[in-house]
Amino acid sequence: MITESEGIVLRQTKISGGRRMISIFTRQYGKISAGTNITERSKGKQALALRPFTHGSYEFFKRGDYFNINGADTLHSYYRIGEDVDKYMNASYVLELVDKATAEGQPAPGVFNLTLDLLKELEMRQGRYLTLVAAFTVKLMKQLGVFPNLESCAACGKPISGFAQEGIIFSIPQGGILCPAHAGNDSLQYKIDFGIIDILNYFNSNPLESLRKVALDDDKAEKIRKMMTEYARYHLDIGELKSESFMMV
Ligand SMILES: [Zn+2]
Repeated sequence: MITESEGIVLRQTKISGGRRMISIFTRQYGKISAGTNITERSKGKQALALRPFTHGSYEFFKRGDYFNINGADTLHSYYRIGEDVDKYMNASYVLELVDKATAEGQPAPGVFNLTLDLLKELEMRQGRYLTLVAAFTVKLMKQLGVFPNLESCAACGKPISGFAQEGIIFSIPQGGILCPAHAGNDSLQYKIDFGIIDILNYFNSNPLESLRKVALDDDKAEKIRKMMTEYARYHLDIGELKSESFMMV
């Protein structure tokens, strides 16, 4: 059948016979891999719509899990992101994270909208991109249904209001915070404070556009980004991210 969907191009690879495989995160079908005969040379305008960072509208021939792209239209190209090395690295990291964290063929409209928001905000933003990316990682966990418990100790259920000021441990394996009495020696845990908890809660409950005038210290934003990526690695089994090595502050 012939069908259409909006999508964000994650990556493209050349395969034999001049064909390409395009990995597209679509609103309707989730992440899919689609073959196409559209090449850079043959159909200029359509080829542009198949480049990474493009938000486009795509016409597919679909049979079961098989997709072929028959036509492509650019809705918005975030090509300007590529003109700034820092933005480019941050955007590459986000798209790789989305690529790894989503399952093939499973619609995830919430993640789709969040990813579009991120590209839009990143394109406009001037500096302190890590704040935006850290917020994205937090919101992504929510959208994927694995948001950590920030309310009470994962081991004993003691509410965070009863924690001592100095000691909060964020445990990756336990999926949330631990009170001082239950903090162990696990290597997959981060020492955090009430300030970080407030930031995580703020990110969780506000849209990315509310951060236009917000800039965290890069150290703090990087800590959140790293913690959430570790968290996704553990709970969603995303493996290593190639782009992550560029992200270290
Ligand atoms: Zn406890």
